[in-house]
Amino acid sequence: RSPDGTVVLELVRKGGVRGVSETAQAPSGELERVLIDEATLQRRVAELGEEIARAYQGKRPVLIGVLTGAFVFMADLVRHLPIDLDIDFMAVSSYGQATVTSGVVRIIKDLDRPIEGRDVLLVEDIIDSGLTLQYLLDVLQRRNPRSLRVVVLLRKQKPGAVSVRADWVGFDIPDEFVVGYGLDAAGRFRNLPFIAVYRNAAQG
Ligand code: 5GP
Repeated sequence: RSPDGTVVLELVRKGGVRGVSETAQAPSGELERVLIDEATLQRRVAELGEEIARAYQGKRPVLIGVLTGAFVFMADLVRHLPIDLDIDFMAVSSYGQATVTSGVVRIIKDLDRPIEGRDVLLVEDIIDSGLTLQYLLDVLQRRNPRSLRVVVLLRKQKPGAVSVRADWVGFDIPDEFVVGYGLDAAGRFRNLPFIAVYRNAAQG
């Protein structure tokens, strides 16, 4: 695999990467490089599952996935949790089509059920500025759960990010815009089974 991601792009074009369809084909140069490959992701998600299952042994937590970015992580994570649990989703929007934060978080879909008295685990895709997570934790805390914890797949090393508590972190990554494994660029690339650095055409 070459550092510039050429091999990966070739594989994507040929449909050689498992589960990647024609629609995921990237015009040359859009994916800069693979940051976390599929095997590494799967290994870490399994590890997180073990730790989380241990923490909730004998309890019945409700896992709250933050849509849309966390849907793949959530789907893989729950299959590594051999415990009684409930699943709910919240949809928020912070960026629209842009790749920089506006600081505005909108709840597009709220939870289906109350969480008062419940052990809540928030499942997030990525912490960038930290604003989304901070906002969601505020909203959920006001609903009086018994406990409220966070698992986030990716956390960016971002100067000036608000410090926000994450109980489990999959990977600390550099401050670059990433796609794949649920994460998109203007709606695309969510179906890639790996995490790649996205190169905006405008950034060259
Ligand atoms: P924050 O509020 O921490 O700045 O951003 C959180 C949300 O922004 C994430 O849930 C995700 O939807 C989006 N986001 C932040 N960084 C990235 C990134 O590198 N790639 C993608 N695709 N989305 C990101």
